[in-house]
Parts: sequence; C-alpha cells; structure tokens
Amino acid sequence: MSLGEFELIRRFFTRPTRRADVQLGVGDDCALLRPSPGKCVAMTVDTLVEGIHFLAGTDPGRLGHKCLAVNLSDQAAMGAAPAWVSLAITLPQSDEAWLSAFAKGFLDLADQYGVDLVGGDTTRGPLSITVQALGFVSERDALHRSGAKVGDGIYLTGDLGLAGLGLEILQGRTSIVAKEAVDRLEMPQPRVQAGQALAGFANACIDVSDGLSADLGHLLEASGVGATLDWTALPLPSAIRRYIAQGGDEWMPLRAGDDYELCFTVSTDREDELALRMEAFGCSCVRIGHIDRQGGLRLRKDRRVFPISASGFQHFPPCG
Ligand code: ADP
Ligand code: MG
Repeated sequence: MSLGEFELIRRFFTRPTRRADVQLGVGDDCALLRPSPGKCVAMTVDTLVEGIHFLAGTDPGRLGHKCLAVNLSDQAAMGAAPAWVSLAITLPQSDEAWLSAFAKGFLDLADQYGVDLVGGDTTRGPLSITVQALGFVSERDALHRSGAKVGDGIYLTGDLGLAGLGLEILQGRTSIVAKEAVDRLEMPQPRVQAGQALAGFANACIDVSDGLSADLGHLLEASGVGATLDWTALPLPSAIRRYIAQGGDEWMPLRAGDDYELCFTVSTDREDELALRMEAFGCSCVRIGHIDRQGGLRLRKDRRVFPISASGFQHFPPCG
C-alpha cells in the first residue's frame, strides 16, 4: 500500500499549530500568518522539476515566467496582494544565455505585479526551481477553500482545458494545431487582480493547478459540501471543442491541470455584483455549476448526471 500525496501530507506534515499568529496552516493554497491583529501574510511555495512539471528543453524565458506564475496563482486564490518572492534554483550548469532568458521571464512577471525578488539559493544538480511567495490580505477578507455554502454558484475565470491540450500537443498525442494551448501551458497568467476583487466577496476559492475535478474536489471536501457541474456551461475554447470533435478525450478539460484559473463560489443573488467586479479589469467569468448538500462531484451532460472522481494529477497517487 503506497500513500497518496494528500494522505502523505496529512499523516506526516499536518498537526495543530501551536502559535497564535498562525491563522491557517497546512491545507489551503497559502498559509495565513498574522503578525499583527487583523492583517495576514499569505505564504506559499511550489517546486517545478524538469521532466515532471516541464519538459526538458522548455524555453527558459517561459520557464522563468511559469515558476513565478504558479505561486502568484496561489496568492490570487487567497485574495492576497503578492509582495515578496524568493527563488531557489538547482542548475546542471551555469549557462549564461539560459540564465539571462530565465531571469527576464521571471523578473518581467514580478514587475507586472510589483513583486520584489528578495532572496533564494543556488545549487548544482538536476534542473529544479522552487519559488516562495509572500503577500498581504486582511484576515477578514482572505479567501479559504472551506467557505462554500449549499446553493452557491460555482464560477470559473477565463476558460478550461487549454494547458492540458498544450501538453498533448507537445507530447505529440494529438494532431490539433493550437499555439494558444502551448502558450497557456508554458505562460499561464495568474489571476492576481481577480483574486483581490473576490477577497471579502467570494465564499470559497481555489486555483486550478491539478485539474478542475481535483481542485474543486479539495474545495468541496474543505467545505463539507458537494457540487453539480453543467457541461454546457463549461468555458471550452474552440481548440478544445475541435479536439473533442476529433475524438479526443472529452473528460480531459475536467482532469487536466495547469490552467491556473480561479474556481470560486458566490451566493447566486450576488451574481450581478460579481459580473461588475470582474468586468472592471476585463476578466471573464462564468457560472459552471452549483454547490449541493449531497457530497461528491457530479456533471450534468446530455440530460444525464455522471459522478466525477476527484482525480487530478498527483505526485504520489494512492494505490494498493
Ligand atoms: P497547491 O496545489 O495549492 O500548491 P498543494 O496541493 O501543493 O497545494 O498542497 C496542499 C497543502 O499541503 C498546502 O497547504 C501545502 O502548503 C501543504 N503541503 C504540501 N506539502 C507539504 C509538506 N511537505 N509539509 C507541510 N505542508 C505541505
Ligand atoms: Mg493552489
């Protein structure tokens, strides 16, 4: 019997916190640390390993962008304003052209959000990049995975499935040509402004890093509720529709990760206000389902309701 990734984290690295200034520990998109009353520092860290999170030979500028973007996405999922980042990088060799492009990709995105790189670590070994991000959010407004309420609408920013299609394209598993899919996989745009616009407004929020079914599954579990998604409401871009029409896996958009959109819940009577908040900076957002009392995740499609397993990408899938 081998432990799943989340069971592993729960068994060995989750315990009640001792310090009064830890508002939220292991189990959400960021930890919330409260150095002074009412104000929290949101902290997150993510590692990208060559061959696991990105293909060998990935453009270094895009890689620099992505390893910061995935952390800013976790900040967005908490409704936080990112401020500081650190960069721990393990390199097989010090290649000046590679480093110059990587640094530009990383720092251009940092500049876009007014984030400063304030430290890190550099070592030699197989290519692997760890970024830690810290930001600010008020304790009252922070978005948690655990706040979804029965009857809430479930909303998704942007669209679904392009990053998954990008991976299929790079791995030569489909004949679809779609530059936008590869761009989404390699250059995701973190929804930092949307996250802050949702702070104090959405009831629960998570970013889609491991796949919608898996990440929404985490939100449902943390909130103690279930959900039904509506297939016709899923924002599937034309490349995804072509992929499905040509015999591609129609469940791929629900399962594939790396889109880095925000999935969140809001009481449906606040939908007009939600639209105004998101339109203010041009972020599209659609209702894709609703929260149910009955646990688990379901999908309504062709007038039938299918149970959806919450399996997305896991580094240590449970087995045995
Ligand atoms: P995300 O996909 O949002 O980055 P993860 O799925 O990686 O989140 O992690 C789930 C939760 O478990 C997060 O709160 C994360 O900080 C925590 N976590 C993951 N690995 C460890 C570890 N080795 N020790 C302590 N906490 C961990
Ligand atoms: Mg996350």
